Amino acid sequence: MDRGTGEGLKTPKAARLPKYLTLTEVIKRKVDAGERAILDFYDPRIEEVRERIRDMQEELRELEAERDQSLDSLRQANARPLYTDDMCQICWMGPASESLPCSHSMCSECRHKLTSCPWDRRPLL
Ligand SMILES: [Zn+2]
Ligand SMILES: [Zn+2]
Repeated sequence: MDRGTGEGLKTPKAARLPKYLTLTEVIKRKVDAGERAILDFYDPRIEEVRERIRDMQEELRELEAERDQSLDSLRQANARPLYTDDMCQICWMGPASESLPCSHSMCSECRHKLTSCPWDRRPLL
């Protein structure tokens, strides 16, 4: 690094800023900017506002966790094959491993919920 001219210390603006901001990053920046703006005008209410900011940040973390959970389940759903011949045709989640006496089949989870065959209405035990 060239400390003589100071040129080496400069980081180009484009390199410092990420090209794309996520919604979370935008909200974080807004919260940070809001906090800085408040600090410029000291007021006894500042503690109240800080508490509100902490609440918002807590809320943001909860939303992030919720979002991550939703994304995880979406990824899991995407990873499953959309259609195969042996899939349960009721929920499309698992293999149709259970066969009824009427020869219709479904996954074991759907089988446990049924009291009659959904196709021909024959009562099940
Ligand atoms: Zn099923
Ligand atoms: Zn049936």
